[in-house]
Amino acid sequence: MSGLLMPKADDATMARREAIIAALKTIVPGEGVVDATNAMRVFESDALTAYRQLPLVVVLPQTVAQVSQVLKYCHENNVKVVPRGSGTSLSGGALPLEDAVLLVMSRFNQILEIDYPNRVAVVQPGVTNLGITKAVEHEGFYYAPDPSSQIACSIGGNVAENSGGVHCLKYGLTANNVLGLEMVLISGEVIRLGGKHLDTEGYDLLGLMTGSEGLLGVVTEVTVRILQKPTTARALMVGFPTSEQAGKCVADIIAAGIIPGGMEMMDRPAIHAAEDFVHAGYPLEVEALLIIELDGPSVEVDHLINMVETIARENGASTCVVSQNEEERMVFWAGRKAAFPAVGRISPDYLCMDGTIPRKELPKVLAGMRRLSETYGLRVANVFHAGDGNLHPLILYDANVPEELAKAEAFGADILRLCVEVGGVLTGEHGVGVEKRDLMPVMFNDVDLNQQIRVKCAFDEKHLLNPGKVFPQLHRCAELGRMHVHRGKLPFPDIPRF
Ligand SMILES: Cc1cc2nc3c(=O)[nH]c(=O)nc-3n(C[C@H](O)[C@H](O)[C@H](O)COP(=O)(O)OP(=O)(O)OC[C@H]3O[C@@H](n4cnc5c(N)ncnc54)[C@H](O)[C@@H]3O)c2cc1C
Repeated sequence: MSGLLMPKADDATMARREAIIAALKTIVPGEGVVDATNAMRVFESDALTAYRQLPLVVVLPQTVAQVSQVLKYCHENNVKVVPRGSGTSLSGGALPLEDAVLLVMSRFNQILEIDYPNRVAVVQPGVTNLGITKAVEHEGFYYAPDPSSQIACSIGGNVAENSGGVHCLKYGLTANNVLGLEMVLISGEVIRLGGKHLDTEGYDLLGLMTGSEGLLGVVTEVTVRILQKPTTARALMVGFPTSEQAGKCVADIIAAGIIPGGMEMMDRPAIHAAEDFVHAGYPLEVEALLIIELDGPSVEVDHLINMVETIARENGASTCVVSQNEEERMVFWAGRKAAFPAVGRISPDYLCMDGTIPRKELPKVLAGMRRLSETYGLRVANVFHAGDGNLHPLILYDANVPEELAKAEAFGADILRLCVEVGGVLTGEHGVGVEKRDLMPVMFNDVDLNQQIRVKCAFDEKHLLNPGKVFPQLHRCAELGRMHVHRGKLPFPDIPRF
């Protein structure tokens, strides 16, 4: 059984459920409020499917005014709110709470403006990541950050998680590609941050919102950069007898001053799973596979391909294939992009972890993971954004075997501890959510955490937005840092502690 603890549902809110639903129906009429148990089932988890919970009620607003009124109502009536985009979060960020409104932003699905001269698009938060590229590709443009879930995940969710993808090594994460936001605060007030311009005055609130995991406000509009598609892109598929050699090759490429459009690595179990699934022609005898993409003008790409090939050979590459056309390049990527579902075919369940390490520590961390795999008796397949040092170990388990989920969670926590130990961080792009919430003290001391919670308090003093996520315990804002236990009696015993 999982050890995850969530804040206890508030009895007073549960008792008022019918009144809350009635009030919300006056704000979002028609089919915008879903309260029947069966209809709410579809929202009971996100992509961290190990955890499920029906919400108090689901609300699907369609206008900024509705979002504002819903949040104002919840604020005034002390009702919690969990924002949700497409529900593809792998850290449980959109996991519902029994006593919270689930605010689903998927009806905000319009592209509002495409401004080619300024190289920006203004979109609603429910537009899918790939939907932005689809809207501009006929003019030779695209939106660079490309999570593997891009066909489904929303740009609002990308902002909330500061999502990344294969091409973020060269073109940056969501934070580097978002120029402006409109967001609604829990009070119902609407604020605008940034815009089409490059710099903003005052504190960098845009930066603060990017990666705020639905804890600070609800995003209702996003202004993103669009980039002109590179004239040429070619990929190399390079196999190595050991992961250590592949890791060293990655470090040497970066050290040579080359920033590939993407540089991804898969280990043996991931290579086999992907090859069985999509038949991309991956070499099956190697221990590690790198897919390295170079993009830009064709003369530059040809030159860089030669340099990368040389570096790969110097590091003992046993196979090296260069894509000769667009179709081949896409086939190379097909296996990597389908790696998660491919692993899903070889195990009933898996947990996808997300930690980041300094690149040079890769061999040490991979060796540590192998040891942990033996200790826990669970298999692990590795897929990672090698250029960024962002690891995605997939821990394979069977939820039907008693205690195996708890074992997988403990294994995952040890991997993340290892990442922090070698100078890395708990997350690269999937966010903290509920998955890594209780590991935050591994990374931050009380002073650090309290300062972060003070920022949360400045936006949401009552802790109504997405509680139980990111921070290992709630504080009453006014009491932050002044918690004192007298004769075993906790102050404010009503505050959830988990
Ligand atoms: C197969 C698969 C592959 C994936 N690959 C990648 C990858 O390569 N890179 C990567 O970074 N991620 C990846 N992910 C994770 C996930 O797709 C991203 O985190 C994505 O950004 C979540 O978007 P979403 O719309 O589904 O958000 P949700 O899951 O609905 O929500 C995620 C978080 O955002 C908040 N949120 C959502 N919308 C709003 C809003 N409008 N305003 C305020 N807060 C909001 C929620 O409260 C929650 O905390 C993958 C997931 C899957 C299932």
